[in-house]
Amino acid sequence: MTYLKRAWAETHLNRIKTNVDNFKRFLASETELLCVVKANCYGNGDDAVVPYLESELDIKWFAVSNIEEAKHLRDIGISHEILILGYTPPEYAKELVDYDIIQTITDESHAKELSECSPNGKKVRAHCAVDTGMTRIGVCERDLNKACDIIERISKLSGIRLEGIFTHFASADSDDEEDINYTQNQAEQITAVSYELKKRLVKLDQIHFLNSAGGIYHSSGRSTLARLGIIMYGLKPNSALEVPFKLEPVLDFKACVSMVKEVESGVCVSYGRTYTTTKPTKIATIPVGYADGYPRFLSNKGEVLIHGKRARIIGRVCMDQMMCDVTGIDVKVGDVATLIGTDGVETITADDIAEIGNTIGYEILCNISKRVPRIVYNKGKEVDILKY
Ligand SMILES: *Cc1c(COP(=O)(O)O)cnc(C)c1O
Repeated sequence: MTYLKRAWAETHLNRIKTNVDNFKRFLASETELLCVVKANCYGNGDDAVVPYLESELDIKWFAVSNIEEAKHLRDIGISHEILILGYTPPEYAKELVDYDIIQTITDESHAKELSECSPNGKKVRAHCAVDTGMTRIGVCERDLNKACDIIERISKLSGIRLEGIFTHFASADSDDEEDINYTQNQAEQITAVSYELKKRLVKLDQIHFLNSAGGIYHSSGRSTLARLGIIMYGLKPNSALEVPFKLEPVLDFKACVSMVKEVESGVCVSYGRTYTTTKPTKIATIPVGYADGYPRFLSNKGEVLIHGKRARIIGRVCMDQMMCDVTGIDVKVGDVATLIGTDGVETITADDIAEIGNTIGYEILCNISKRVPRIVYNKGKEVDILKY
């Protein structure tokens, strides 16, 4: 298979292995890895990444955001456990059973509806979310005994097989003392709930609360699973806080220069004439724009790498193209510009881009659009091309 050398992303599977191996060293022996592969593996390409995780890294647990993502994993042959982290309407109960997918329960009424909709004699496998401070989904009771009452009732519903409970940290990626206390309190709450349920003889296989940040900053053997997301893809949970090992960003984003020209001083560039040259300038046009997920907030602010040198974006990023100042760089049509990744001694990360737009690396990765093919590499060798 070939692809148009316009704009493309490169997903490097061997870097995932490095990140996963480094993360695992922080987990207690009781904690098993669950890989969070929602949103097309944070833009990295689930069709290649998830089979790699299952067959090469021996991962037994996967999590996605919704039933479409879960069914897709089954359709591409994933056979191990799949947990849906978000809401699924009760009318999909039969599909949950047919595809052997574990559903998150958001509250008691969701559990009752799922139970009622489950096909005759069959049970929907479920983990119950417990809200300990995120205020997003989950059984939400300040009184932990009341929370246990609800979970106990859920465990007795005829159409539900309750296999686990979990909670989600709100600020595990912070080194602020109050945030640290808040996170520890969340971990203590879910642990207390699990102990009380055990006393009441509600049998659970899994109690989990660690995400990427939790795994490195708040690791605990009480969490039977660690839900690893962003660190697997090589970004820090919080770009301002160091991760205690070297992360390898899995995805590179590249494009080929489509035009090069020299203009004199006083020439306006791109929509709205927000940039005017102040000297003779060499300009390269790059066929990437916000329709590819390259953020428009980088207009007049971002940089790309060409031949190991930084070239600033001048004027506004358009839907499909943008311009860079390449004065002093030996550039011709067809040369590769690196938007995310390393060229020579220079590197641009998704976090660098995020900082300019006051957002997070997660969003930059997820936004790379389906117009951009993902070229998959393992140890430097091209192994797959994902087109959407
Ligand atoms: C997305 C998500 C994760 C993964 O978070 P990271 O910060 O990427 O590790 C874990 N748990 C839940 C419930 C999530 O929604």
